[in-house]
Amino acid sequence: MIAENLHRIEQEIQESCALVSRNPEDITMVAVTKSVDSNAANELVELGVTDLAENRVDKLLEKKQSLSQNQQIKWHLIGNLQRRKVKLIINEIDYFHALDSLRLAQEIQKRAEHQINCFIEVNVSGEESKHGIQPKELPSFIEELEGLDKINVIGLMTMAPYEASQQEVRDIFSTLKRLQESMKKLNLQYAPCTELSMGMSQDFKTAIEEGATFVRIGTALFRKG
Ligand SMILES: *Cc1c(COP(=O)(O)O)cnc(C)c1O
Repeated sequence: MIAENLHRIEQEIQESCALVSRNPEDITMVAVTKSVDSNAANELVELGVTDLAENRVDKLLEKKQSLSQNQQIKWHLIGNLQRRKVKLIINEIDYFHALDSLRLAQEIQKRAEHQINCFIEVNVSGEESKHGIQPKELPSFIEELEGLDKINVIGLMTMAPYEASQQEVRDIFSTLKRLQESMKKLNLQYAPCTELSMGMSQDFKTAIEEGATFVRIGTALFRKG
């Protein structure tokens, strides 16, 4: 079942790319394994998936431990991170998708032994329940990160509200794309801002059409039937 789902998703990624003349190689499919056990995660890895994500620190450490024979895996932390947990996780991951405060960035700077690829999470939709900084705060937030040499701001991340219409979702993703391009134009060495982490099971096609380079897919990989 996982193999079939993966195959279908890869096909859909290609179709979405074709629609807007993008190269599928520019899209990284990050498999979100938060709802499954290590066996299912391992199955994905054996099928060739290289990027795995969890939204909780303890769960990521657990999975990484049980898949430890595979050094090829890139680990993504996609959920919000409490400062007191930074030291437990920061040297175990390759990507962090939810940077949203200076204090968190300072803690990462203090604990990281290598540079961490970070996405700044932006709350484009304005939903109160969502994490992330406001779009208008983005330029000043990025400015504040100057000098924190453990933080490499590779791009921006957002989530569309679950109940949003397709047009609303599209507007949110295209707004994030505009923000990303304006940050990229600043040509900051510590914030190349070339990447966009957006799109989940229900909206990754729209996200790819609007410029996503990392899609975070959970449910659609593990659905039965
Ligand atoms: C769970 C989760 C996903 C994956 O969502 P699905 O709808 O299962 O594809 C993506 N991003 C974040 C931040 C998540 O927490």
